[in-house]
Amino acid sequence: MSVCCYIIGCETTKKGAVLDPGGEEDRILAAVKQAELDIIYIINTHGHPDHVCGNEIIQQQTGAKIVMHKEDADFFTQPEVKQYFSALGMKESPPIDKTVQDGDIIEIGTLKLQVIHTPGHTPGGMCLYHAPDLFTGDTLFVGGVGRTDFPGGGAHILTESIKKKLLSLPDSTVVWPGHGYGGDSSTIGHEKLSNPFLTGAF
Ligand SMILES: [Zn+2]
Ligand SMILES: [Zn+2]
Repeated sequence: MSVCCYIIGCETTKKGAVLDPGGEEDRILAAVKQAELDIIYIINTHGHPDHVCGNEIIQQQTGAKIVMHKEDADFFTQPEVKQYFSALGMKESPPIDKTVQDGDIIEIGTLKLQVIHTPGHTPGGMCLYHAPDLFTGDTLFVGGVGRTDFPGGGAHILTESIKKKLLSLPDSTVVWPGHGYGGDSSTIGHEKLSNPFLTGAF
């Protein structure tokens, strides 16, 4: 599914986190080893199978705790939701170890990642912010936004989330999306001006 996985590390303490491991676990683990990081968290921007299917192996190999927004942790364990997504044939996540909510801070060594709850693609979708970097999962892409036609999604809610909570960040904020559909990175300022889903052109 070409999910963008990010490895985040604290240079002082060498603690680290893996964001959205969606396969190619060997490659992720090799990069972690090369960076000499002790992975303490696996953070999922949301509960979709393509973003969590690497959780099990990364957890087995690192002992990291799995972190997800509370609403997605609840939503994706509902039997009918599980059944809907199991049709995709991807590995499920082991149980979530730690749930977070809007405004929470995830500490990785001296690094502080802020949780920004951005529902709309899923009920508990979230972005992770460490100025100037913003990891947007499937909420905001370069020149696009996440799909809203899956269970638990809503187009109006997604637009509200992006406009209220993301476009209010500084224009220089660097956007790191959950898929590289329109490009690998952008800025909030650029998306504000050119993203057709946000300018009203779409
Ligand atoms: Zn998704
Ligand atoms: Zn995705």
